[in-house]
Amino acid sequence: MSINLYSYGVDCFIFIVSLVSLLSFRIINYWAKVIVISNLNIFVLKITFLGTGTSQGVPVVACQCTVCQSSDKYDKRLRSSILIEAGETTLVVDSGPDFRQQMLKAEVREIDAILLTHEHYDHIAGLDDIRAFNWVQQRPTDIYATARVQKSIRQIFSYVFAAKKYPGIPQMNLFEIENAPFKVKGHEVIPITVLHYRLPVTGYRIGKFAYITDMKTIKTEEKEKLKGLEVLVVNALRKEEHLSHMNLERALKLIAEVQPQKAFLTHLSHQMGLHAEVSKELPANVELAYDGLEVEVI
Ligand SMILES: [Zn+2]
Ligand SMILES: [Zn+2]
Ligand SMILES: [Zn+2]
Repeated sequence: MSINLYSYGVDCFIFIVSLVSLLSFRIINYWAKVIVISNLNIFVLKITFLGTGTSQGVPVVACQCTVCQSSDKYDKRLRSSILIEAGETTLVVDSGPDFRQQMLKAEVREIDAILLTHEHYDHIAGLDDIRAFNWVQQRPTDIYATARVQKSIRQIFSYVFAAKKYPGIPQMNLFEIENAPFKVKGHEVIPITVLHYRLPVTGYRIGKFAYITDMKTIKTEEKEKLKGLEVLVVNALRKEEHLSHMNLERALKLIAEVQPQKAFLTHLSHQMGLHAEVSKELPANVELAYDGLEVEVI
């Protein structure tokens, strides 16, 4: 009888130890996953293409060409801009004439900063519409740009900087950038200077993602910043040569040279051709971007 009781006690002990071990394992495993996922979140960038068209957009007003008359949704392109979501941080690159429409379509509720590439109208014309974010976030919008671009912003949107301000005008905090890395809410942003004919334009690299628009040429030392990318976005206006933009051939040459895992072409003109047709002609790791395209970069 005493032996049986002893055996019963041992069985109970083994059972309790097993149960505690199993529960501990599950709890440790759960927290390990939580830690891994939350750490991964820091590095996951979600890119949304808000617009992929050149300065006039596609279709071009009054144009009767095949691309402008196409009913394919991939042939509708707003002016070039992207949304970058990095964890809790939301960045927008450029705010062209379609900014309001793009913010509504992508359901953007808050913006931590706008990074400007250059002062051409198709990249800044929508800045007045940051008023909506000023109201919702109850603060000025942070805008990063070079000194030259800031000078244009102060001229074009002079009412924003007037001594006596009209009620309800946009509020912006201008941050001057140079060709050196800076941080936005803890995320390192590396500017890449490219040339748009003779005008310096700023491209941006965050982690293994880089976005370059309105480029014709790039100096060797700047090209170095494009090494080891998972995703590269570059402009390609059309197939024929252009004074201030890369054409398709030049863009593909740059991609082949810096070898990102994947590349997307943006700032596309109606002269590039139909999305469906041009897509068939591209190398396996290159795609035409389209409005609404979402890409994740780890
Ligand atoms: Zn442009
Ligand atoms: Zn057209
Ligand atoms: Zn431009």
